[in-house]
This record gives sequence, C-alpha cells and structure tokens, in this order.
Amino acid sequence: MLLWMKATADEMRSMVYTAAFWEDLSKGLPPGPEKIRYQNLIDFMTPILKAYCSDTGVRVCETAMQCLGGYGYCRDYPIERYLRDVKIMSLYEGTNGIQSMDLMGRKMLIRDGGCLKAFQEEIDGFCATHRNHPVLKNQVAQLASTAGELWSCAMEMRAQMKTDPLQWASTTYPALLAFGDLTMAWRLLDMAVIASDRATKNGRKNDFFKGKVYQATWFVDTTLPHTIARIGTFLRQGREIVDIPDNAF
Ligand SMILES: Cc1cc2nc3c(=O)[nH]c(=O)nc-3n(C[C@H](O)[C@H](O)[C@H](O)COP(=O)(O)OP(=O)(O)OC[C@H]3O[C@@H](n4cnc5c(N)ncnc54)[C@H](O)[C@@H]3O)c2cc1C
Repeated sequence: MLLWMKATADEMRSMVYTAAFWEDLSKGLPPGPEKIRYQNLIDFMTPILKAYCSDTGVRVCETAMQCLGGYGYCRDYPIERYLRDVKIMSLYEGTNGIQSMDLMGRKMLIRDGGCLKAFQEEIDGFCATHRNHPVLKNQVAQLASTAGELWSCAMEMRAQMKTDPLQWASTTYPALLAFGDLTMAWRLLDMAVIASDRATKNGRKNDFFKGKVYQATWFVDTTLPHTIARIGTFLRQGREIVDIPDNAF
C-alpha cells in the first residue's frame, strides 16, 4: 500500500510537470513543426491527466485511509477530508467519462491523428533509447510491448467510433485508463533511468534514488500485465452494455 501510494503520487506529479513543460513549449516556440508537436502532445495528454489523475487521486486517499485504519476514517485526522475533497475532481471540468470520449474520439481525429502520433513517437522513442538499459531493460521491454498493443487497439477503436458508436463509447473509459497506466510507467521509468546510476553508490543519501528505481520496477512489473489484459477486452464481441434492456435495472 505504501509503495503503491508513493509510486502513484510520484508518477502523477511527473505527468503533470511533463505536461506543463509541453504547454510552455507549445506556447513559447516560434510557429513550425516543433510547436505543433508540443500542441499535439498537450492536447492528447489533457484528458488523460484530468481523468486518470483525479480517479487515481481518490484511490490514493482511500488507500491512505485504509493504512490508518479506524483513525483514518475519523474526523480527527485530515484523510477523510482529503478523500471527500478529491472526489469532486472526477466530476467537474468535464466528468471523467466525457474526458474519455474526448480522448478516444476528438483527440484521435484532430490534425489527422497527429495527437496520438506525437504521443506514440514520445513513448516509442524512449523505448528505443533505453531498450538495452543495464538495470531497466526488462521493464522498458514491457513498456514497448504494452504500447504496441495499445496503438493498434486505439486505431481499431477509432474505426469503430464511426461504425458502432455505442459499442465504442462503452469502452472509452477503460481505454483512457490504459493510456494512463502507460504514461505512468513511462514517467516512472524515465525518472528511474536518471536515478539508477546514482542509486548504485553506497550511502544513506542514495535511498532517494533507490526509491525511484524500486518504484519503477515494481509498478511496471505489477501493473502493465493487467494493462495488457485490459486492452484485450476493448474489442471483445460482447455487447452487454449496449444491449441490456432498461427494464433489467
Ligand atoms: C462543487 C461543484 C462546483 C462546480 N463548479 C462549477 C463552476 O464553477 N462552473 C461550472 O460551469 N460548473 C461547475 N460545476 C458543475 C460541473 O461542471 C458539473 O457538475 C459537471 O460538468 C457534470 O455535469 P452534471 O453534474 O450535469 O452531470 P451529468 O452530465 O448529468 O453526468 C452524470 C453522469 O453521466 C455521464 N454522462 C453525461 N453525458 C454522457 C454521455 N453523453 N455519454 C455517456 N455518459 C455521459 C457523466 O460522465 C457522469 O458520470 C460544479 C459542480 C460541483 C459539484
């Protein structure tokens, strides 16, 4: 529970900072392909940041309450207030369900698919650069294979949006979660690549860098297998969500 909360808070913070950096570049660069690339990245990342971080934030506060047991539930301590306060983030500024339709719909189409392409280049480029990393190569390989599954699934969903829009809409939210998992794994590995050199040196001060490596290997090894399984469900044939009659509820 503690490691999950640490990894999750750290990677969400890194996602937000990365997106803020892209936003600055998209505003500050002179007109040209680089400026468009960062605009594509920030456009793609916005619904993921909003929905994935707000829903995961609720889970972090809930886990923190669970760690503290009955004390966590009581008003004497701030966790119960954090848990209630964080929930609104999933509702306002576009509910997270609507954000997922924006990601898997509009953001797949604008600028001729340029948003997904820019994000894909970012992840694929990272995997190519670090595929032989002495400490993290297994995790980088998992990131690359999960990304490959997600890119092809996203393209099929893009086609499904036109041919079967209700069925498409029933899977946009889990698809957003898969993009969130992928982004989280990428941010953790990016930090771990920098930290891994420093983590191998002796001394207590290196615990900070060791923590970055441990959280990355643990998160990738225990999360991405679930993400791959989740991706496999997006295009299943079952149509229960669309077909269940209103009177069945
Ligand atoms: C504390 C608070 C502060 C707020 N502050 C502001 C503010 O300052 N300015 C402002 O403009 N608004 C504000 N709002 C309103 C907020 O933006 C809306 O509550 C939010 O957009 C959700 O709309 P809704 O409540 O009508 O929910 P609904 O739109 O009824 O959504 C209910 C559920 O249905 C889903 N849903 C809705 N449409 C679809 C669809 N087409 N397909 C599939 N699923 C769908 C949603 O994802 C959601 O899960 C505030 C709300 C709260 C609670």
